[in-house]
Amino acid sequence: MLDRNNELGAFDRDHFFHPSTHMGTHARGESPTRIIKTAKNATIVDRDGKESLDAFAGLYCVNAGYGRTEIADAIAKQAHELAYYHAYVGHGTEVSIRLAKMIVDRAPDHMSRVYFGLSGSDANETNIKLVWYYNNVLGRPEKKKIISRWRGYHGSGVMTGSLTGLHLFHNAFDLPRAPILHTEAPYYYRRPNRDQSEEEFATWCADKLEEMILAEGPETVAAFIGEPVLGTGGIVPPPATYWEKVQAVLDKYDVLLIADEVVTGFGRLGSMFGSEHYGMKPDLITIAKGLTSAYAPLSGTIVGKDMWNVLVSGSDQLGSIGHGWTYSAHPICAAAGVANLELIDNLDLIENVKTVGARFRNGLQDALGDHANVGEVRGEGLIAAVEFVKDRDDRVFFEADEKVGARITAALAERGVIGRAMPQGDILGFAPPFCLTAEEADTVVAKAKEAVASVL
Ligand code: PLP
Repeated sequence: MLDRNNELGAFDRDHFFHPSTHMGTHARGESPTRIIKTAKNATIVDRDGKESLDAFAGLYCVNAGYGRTEIADAIAKQAHELAYYHAYVGHGTEVSIRLAKMIVDRAPDHMSRVYFGLSGSDANETNIKLVWYYNNVLGRPEKKKIISRWRGYHGSGVMTGSLTGLHLFHNAFDLPRAPILHTEAPYYYRRPNRDQSEEEFATWCADKLEEMILAEGPETVAAFIGEPVLGTGGIVPPPATYWEKVQAVLDKYDVLLIADEVVTGFGRLGSMFGSEHYGMKPDLITIAKGLTSAYAPLSGTIVGKDMWNVLVSGSDQLGSIGHGWTYSAHPICAAAGVANLELIDNLDLIENVKTVGARFRNGLQDALGDHANVGEVRGEGLIAAVEFVKDRDDRVFFEADEKVGARITAALAERGVIGRAMPQGDILGFAPPFCLTAEEADTVVAKAKEAVASVL
């Protein structure tokens, strides 16, 4: 329901400060509220009873699908038994300890421990602090700079907003620039030199990274952070050989790797972690969304064994680590995590990501790949994007104020399918729940084709 005139719509306009929303148009009622009431599997239902196929899984987070009684029951049971106890000074709850083991069991072999947070943003704040602490313990206090990438998304906090390489998230906030730097995005479609192969472009990106490390001084560069597949910056899988080349540069200059797997962790690419998928060897892995399929807010930092050993020696020198959140390892959220990871295994949902994901991406390619205004259809596993251009031969991009992505997303929503206009460029993104059926995948493709035809 588009609640422009009724009571709830008025309450919303007058009292609710929405994230990532145009404050003026919303408060004036020019962009009405859509109130979602119930949901099941991949389908959401609003207050009017209008059903939509949610092909973005909320904010690419409801991976197991909506309405999972197993997760809801686990949350309720935990709330009745023990709604809260903290994790400070060695305290724990059965469920949070169990979840930590489940995460490490699923993570790449060289990972060791999980530090729990509540959101992807706070987990990345934790990462920055751990990297700095690590270098202080090692007696190299000048090694503190963090290199991120243009178009990377790592959160909206003070430091993590800086890490994010999207201007929208910097605008007018006076976020600290230092000690954060941005290097080139591995965005093959928008490569500056069109003659480059994927491998040549990957080499160019790795060279740019190395140049930056050398220009800054390797003794000052602590870590590099990247999403295995760029998400909010446009859903961009890396060009072939990118991660192995980046990893080699990082190893050469003793720079830590933070793999931000908030979107890719727990199956989105058809592998448990994106790090495995691309052969990365991260020192820290950020997890959030798919950890609980968004049934409760929970995030984490998975720490590699080598780094863990240094952190332990830090405690021996400095005492307890002075970093904690009240709700770290919250038992209700942990119960959601345990039930969610069990469900993903029991229903073999990652296998579905592979098979339905391939069908979906091929379907998009067949339906839209030849359209005169489609520059590229891309994706991996069950995440995909369609990038629109004014002229595909000369690669002329649309102006931001033409709002092509937003107009197509709106046309798609009118046809009962939710995609996402990615914040930069003219990109329609998809990241459906892992339980998407083959028929639903075909529906999304067919409706996307209609929506594009109605706008371009
Ligand atoms: N990192 C990545 C890769 C993300 O996609 C996001 C959110 O979309 C975040 C971090 C921030 O997570 P949160 O919104 O939970 O703070």
